Parts: sequence; C-alpha cells; structure tokens
Amino acid sequence: MIIQLDQDITAAQQKALADKLASFQFKATPVSTQFAEYLIGTGKVEFDIRGIGNLEGIKDIHRVSDAYKLVSRKWKVQDTVCEIGEDIKIGTGHFAMMAGPCSIESEEQIAATLTHLKKNGVKIMRGGVYKPRSSPYSFRGLGIDGLKLWHSMAKEAGIAIITEVMMTEQIEAMMDYVDIFQVGARNSQNFNLLDALGEVDKPVLLKRGISGTLDELLQSAEYIFSHGNEKIMLCERGIRTFETAYRNTMDINAIAMLKEKTHLPVIADPSHGIGVRQFVDKIALASIMAGADGVIFEVHSTPEKAFSDGQQTLNFGEADALISKMRKAFRLRQEF
Ligand code: PEP
Ligand code: MN
Repeated sequence: MIIQLDQDITAAQQKALADKLASFQFKATPVSTQFAEYLIGTGKVEFDIRGIGNLEGIKDIHRVSDAYKLVSRKWKVQDTVCEIGEDIKIGTGHFAMMAGPCSIESEEQIAATLTHLKKNGVKIMRGGVYKPRSSPYSFRGLGIDGLKLWHSMAKEAGIAIITEVMMTEQIEAMMDYVDIFQVGARNSQNFNLLDALGEVDKPVLLKRGISGTLDELLQSAEYIFSHGNEKIMLCERGIRTFETAYRNTMDINAIAMLKEKTHLPVIADPSHGIGVRQFVDKIALASIMAGADGVIFEVHSTPEKAFSDGQQTLNFGEADALISKMRKAFRLRQEF
C-alpha cells in the first residue's frame, strides 16, 4: 500500500490518518523524498481504501502488493524523467547516450574522448575511477584525483559525468565531481551503499547484478527510493548464464519487462551485455527496439591499448556510426 500525502498536510490531519490506520492495525513506514511524502504499508491487512482516500491531507492511495512498491508502475503510470543539470532529460521522449572508456586513464585520453563526444552531440561521459576488477593485480582506477581532473575538463566542455561509486565512504568526496552515480553489477545488492545513495540528491544509475533477477533489481531500486532519492535509472548489463561464447548474456527481455514493471528509465549497456566489440552495435540497436530509454557504451581512441575492457570497446569511428544509427532507431521506435 502506498499513501501519498499532501505536501501541506496539517498535524491534525496527520493525527486523523494515524488513528484511522491504527484502527486497521496498518504498519506504515514514512518515506520522504525530494519530491513527496509517502506512507508505505507492507502488511497483508485488508480494508477498504476509500476509508483512507477520503481523509483530508491525502493526495493518493494505491494498493501495491509487490515486494517493491514506490518503483512500481502500479501506482505511478507515467514514466519518470530523470533530469541531469539544466538541459539533459532521460526517459520517455528523451533518448540518452552515455559513452566513454571503461577506465579513466590520462589527461590525453579524457581530452580525446570529450572532443569525440562533443562532435557527436553526446552529453554524458562515462568512465571508472574506482574499478571493480576480478583480479587484484589489474588496473583499479585513478581514484579521486583522476575524477577531479576529469571533472574540470568535462565541465569546460559542457559534458556531464557518470562514474561508479563502490563504497559508501566514497560518496561525500565524489559528490561535487559527479552528475550521475553508477552502482555497478557487483554492488547491486550492497544495501548499505543503496541506503546511502538514497540520502543524496543526485541521479543514480543502478545496474542489474550479475545473477540478479528483475525483482531483486527493483527491490534494490526501492532501497534508494525509500531512503529519499527518486532520481533512479535502471541498467540492464547482461547476466551470467550457461553460455560461454560471449562475456555475458544481454537480457533484452528484461528491458521490455522492466518498462512494464516500473516507471523508472531503463538504460541498456551493450558493451558489458555481450562483451565483444563486433556485436555491440547490434545489441545496442536491439535494446532500443525493446524499449530502452538510453544506451551506455564503452569507447576509446585505441581500444586495443585500453587499461580495461578493450575487447568490448568501440573505437571512435565505430562509435560515430553507432551513434547515428541509434538516433535513427530511436526515431523509428517512436513511430511504432
Ligand atoms: C563498468 O561500467 O565499467 C562496469 C564495471 O560495469 P558492471 O558493473 O556492469 O560490470
Ligand atoms: Mn567496463
């Protein structure tokens, strides 16, 4: 059950509502976000919701029986549009592209990528400064100094930054240099990190866990929302299956289904989704046709020299071609 309160609900109205809910033995968790105040009921108590809906100070009431509630489309039919700064919108009619290297490596690399993105009208640059790596001996990122350098250059170029945060303790230091916090697949169920990202007023791109179900992904998003942050995007980045011919199995089904289950924007990551450069473009286009609100992909001037994920990273020429195809695909989808 989701009860959305009027912003200006009075103390007397709050009390009347509390009394009424107590009479149903309804246990409610209050949720307060950037945009609204809610009461979330999780019990199995049955009652006629009109008895509450008619009370003063209530904006809306909905029965949502799924384990996830606030991120469900059952109470919010309209798509959420995530706004990044003044001129970037993600969701419904606004298609988002986020591109950049797997890892931020050097000043020259940042400069070359920014020039490439600007030329293509891509407004968000991706890149990791804290890298989750399977081997402890692999490159693990330039850290906060790399982020600061990247931020000063990206700001100058008018490009927004999405980067992965791996630990709660990193959030504060990263805050002023990041436009979108990325939660990586390995941290998709790091509930302390999700709680902490619920406390910030910055968009979060939440990736699906390597073996995560859609329900688990949506419940992870619910952690962020219920701690106060409604600015969430979900990301399908491939899951682990029995297939070994490619790195991951891009679950295109998930994109279509998530668009039904949630009002949040859904972003596709075809680079990690298949993990093989040659096929990234096809999977990106298929994801758009399945309903993705945006695509995040890896690009590098010389992928064969990239510090990480070179095998799935496009070069600038390949990215130029993909970007124009994606724009066409999105226009085509809107005609359907
Ligand atoms: C990345 O975006 O480079 C990354 C590490 O992604 P994932 O968490 O999906 O593996
Ligand atoms: Mn990567």
